Amino acid sequence: MIADRARFRHAKKIERLAGYRIPELAFSGTMLETLSSRIDYDSLDYAVREQILAFFDAFLRCNCRDSPLCGCPEKKFATKVLELRMNGLDHRQIGSYLLDEYGIELFPADILSFLEESVHVLEAIADVARLQGRDVLAKKTGDTIRLIER
Ligand SMILES: [Zn+2]
Repeated sequence: MIADRARFRHAKKIERLAGYRIPELAFSGTMLETLSSRIDYDSLDYAVREQILAFFDAFLRCNCRDSPLCGCPEKKFATKVLELRMNGLDHRQIGSYLLDEYGIELFPADILSFLEESVHVLEAIADVARLQGRDVLAKKTGDTIRLIER
């Protein structure tokens, strides 16, 4: 999962605020639970606070009972990376976007291999869809592959 490689640039600040040890991985259970708990974001500098709020809005809003440990945040993050690619950003631009917007650090090489893996999965889906005569799904999948590969 691409989310497993995402690190928070300001993890140390969040750790200091929480008062216990937190791994810098943005989607670790401890980090997600800390961000969802009522820690005092106001004492963070403006830019960091905005990034955390943007992260929260983008990935941590769901109504599952075991949220934020329900798997939605990781899935939403993977979807976000694919959306950015489909909007025309390359892997480096996706990396800078994630850093500016959410304070998330990811190696461009990790983004690239995630995009390649996604294409392989989509190709497998398109093959199965074609075998089953599900033409609409096959076409949709093919269109998505083209948007990622261009
Ligand atoms: Zn959920």
